[in-house]
Amino acid sequence: MPFTEFSRFAPLHEAEALAGFRRQLRNWYARNGRDLAWRRTRDPYRVWVSEIMLQQTTVAAVAPYFERFLARFPNVAALADAAEEDVLRLWEGLGYYSRARNLRRAAERIVHDYGGRFPHDAGGLQRLPGIGRYTAGAIVSFAFDRPAAIVEANTLRLYCRLLGYAGDPRSSAGQRVLWEFAERLVPRRSPGRFNQALMELGATVCRPAAPDCSRCPVRRHCVAFGENTQDVIPRAAARPAVTQVTEAMVAISRRGRFLLRRRPPSERWAGLWDFPRFELNGSACDGDSPAVRGFVEEQLQERHGVAAAVDSLLTEMRHGVTRYRIRLLCFAARYVSRPRRSNGEELRWTSRRELTDLPLSTTGRRMARLLCEQSAVRSQRSAVSGQLITHPETLKAER
Ligand code: SF4
Repeated sequence: MPFTEFSRFAPLHEAEALAGFRRQLRNWYARNGRDLAWRRTRDPYRVWVSEIMLQQTTVAAVAPYFERFLARFPNVAALADAAEEDVLRLWEGLGYYSRARNLRRAAERIVHDYGGRFPHDAGGLQRLPGIGRYTAGAIVSFAFDRPAAIVEANTLRLYCRLLGYAGDPRSSAGQRVLWEFAERLVPRRSPGRFNQALMELGATVCRPAAPDCSRCPVRRHCVAFGENTQDVIPRAAARPAVTQVTEAMVAISRRGRFLLRRRPPSERWAGLWDFPRFELNGSACDGDSPAVRGFVEEQLQERHGVAAAVDSLLTEMRHGVTRYRIRLLCFAARYVSRPRRSNGEELRWTSRRELTDLPLSTTGRRMARLLCEQSAVRSQRSAVSGQLITHPETLKAER
């Protein structure tokens, strides 16, 4: 239902009510807005980086990444000059890595096509890789203080409740209603700060579960509050069925180095380096056994052309990727012979020190840390046994 039809249900279609809503929201934000690093700036580059990081990620998780990223790439020219691998390394752990790749590609475009200056209009910004309608609206309003509507996760929920919108907010009809409502809300005076206030109210008061309506400055304008439907609005997205998967990840060693492959564009975590990993089926999922080790060796040969002997199960990890719940069996293997064929994969032998500098998946990083810890323990043991051997000589020398 378009907002124009819907508006007969919404108290905010009256100009006076809208003015009151804006005033109450602004006053509340002045007292309650959080002091976040990316709110202390009008620099479009910083606004843009923070908005991309905050997609699918919490404020608490983003804060340290934002500081590190800006320290390394302080402006759009520095990002445009960066190697994709370095950008991915700083993004490691934030997930959704296409955001980082698009960020760097868009920086190149801004430098080469726009002389290093951000377009000031939402249309121009949306022509850049990875910038959609919301991000364009956020940059235009936060950095340039121009009126532009925003709809993201927090405001989507807030708008649905204010309107009492019980339809699917992710459908095209729902999106039309919400964007039209957002256009209506945004004022000409200080639109950036107003949009920040909307997002803050959605994030801290109109929360997904148990919205704090008693503390809400705009509850008298809220249809869901009036109808006591705030716990069922917005309509929940259908959750995809969870699929259980078992995978193997293998650390193949050769003279203190480990075989890594760069994940190609067709795979998840494209551009990151990774230990060979693949899905296990049937009895190969059972864990550590000669049959499973044999299967892993066959797969290494078949997929990567590497002959290796699997020695032991190092550890087992559990993690989730979208709808998949993955049990990951991590093996140690010794290299036996060089690849007999190349399937065009990018492979490299990597020392423990180099593992620190390369971008890895979260589970790849855990594996790398485990290998480094094992090496440190081995070094300590050899140092201790060396001391035991040399101790009598030391005593002798002291005599
Ligand atoms: S009254 Fe409650 S449901 Fe309505 S906007 Fe405020 S917090 Fe959200």
